[in-house]
Amino acid sequence: MAELILIRYGELALKGKNRSYFEERLLKNIRANMKKASRCRVYRTRGRLFVEIMEGDLEEVISRLKDTFGISSLSTVVRAQLDMGDIKEKALALMEKVHRPGETFKVETKRANKAFPLKSPEVSREVAAYVLSRLEDLPVDVHSPQKRLHVEIREAEAYVFTEAWRGAGGLPVGVSGKGLLLLSGGIDSPVAAYLALKRGVALEALHFHSFPFTSDRAREKVLDLWALLARYGGDMTLHVAPFTNLQKAIYQHCPSDWGVIVMRRMMMRIAAETALRRGAKALFTGENLGQVASQTMESMAVTEDAAGLPVFRPLLCYDKNEIIHIAKNIGTYPISIRPYEDCCTVFVDPHPVTRPQKDRARALEENFDFTPLLHECLENMETVSISEKASPGKKGIS
Ligand code: ATP
Ligand code: MG
Repeated sequence: MAELILIRYGELALKGKNRSYFEERLLKNIRANMKKASRCRVYRTRGRLFVEIMEGDLEEVISRLKDTFGISSLSTVVRAQLDMGDIKEKALALMEKVHRPGETFKVETKRANKAFPLKSPEVSREVAAYVLSRLEDLPVDVHSPQKRLHVEIREAEAYVFTEAWRGAGGLPVGVSGKGLLLLSGGIDSPVAAYLALKRGVALEALHFHSFPFTSDRAREKVLDLWALLARYGGDMTLHVAPFTNLQKAIYQHCPSDWGVIVMRRMMMRIAAETALRRGAKALFTGENLGQVASQTMESMAVTEDAAGLPVFRPLLCYDKNEIIHIAKNIGTYPISIRPYEDCCTVFVDPHPVTRPQKDRARALEENFDFTPLLHECLENMETVSISEKASPGKKGIS
């Protein structure tokens, strides 16, 4: 028999008239995700989504659903007709399968279908009495049972189940619009990507590559990170910008303690133009308050002055150990700690300015006409479509 999974999506229920838009998107995202692992039917009834697996590994399907944003929880369920006889039989068959002798239990009923003739407590009582009359060694504990047998009565049919897994929560990817993430090969920006995706932002990524100062391995690493994040975001696009000439010019024409600030302003300009071309409404970075000189409030203000688009920083107030914890859970950590050079660390000054001012940055940029190099970087950008690739280090999110 085909396995059936019931999907709940708590937060969406709060979204009023946007609800069907959210549901459609979630449905679409689940379908795209399921295609990678199984042959199944994904459909919606009022307030619930269902995945009916025709062919495929149940564990793999569940693990993918747990990584799909917008899902609050999910259960494998057994379908029953809207008939007490059938509900009782299905409940008994399920308990026979999962019950361990001596384990306490309780029946809980949810009746979304108010036309069903029995009220929830009556359904629970009848089902419990039936199961108890046929199974041995099944003590009832209504306060803190070890096993809960759930009966959910909906419009067209009823469902019985004993387990619910927590989903990743958040919003379906895409409902919050599109953003452009500045992706380095470090620990932070992939985690920032995960958090933005979790709030429903569809992302494209932009990576600045400074060959030969940064090697092909550094580029490879970024491709691998983005391929892993495609598990959460669907197939995604990565832009790789050749940054070497621009970077050299910055260090030639600006005082070295201002190099990082001017470089980051140039990154913002290229990112903003890329966002415009790709229909992204905001930039996202892995910046974190106080982590390094370029991440003081003053530095961030001067950096984003050059963007002309909102710059969002999902990790702004996280501690490094919290970021690492997420990176390990989502599987990006083992890739991020591979040794590599980032263009931010090439030519780095030992004492960069920590309290820069906009006017000074703007004045320094007047010393040289960077415009042709900005164009060169934009026009020679490489755009790659990336499909999901699993990480051996992925722990899974519970
Ligand atoms: P990360 O771990 O994400 O590299 P970080 O703590 O090393 O961050 P920085 O190197 O100062 O910090 O970079 C801050 C942010 O700037 C990064 O999180 C990323 O969003 C962006 N960034 C840095 N280097 C690059 C790059 N080569 N290409 C694209 N974006 C970058
Ligand atoms: Mg970095």
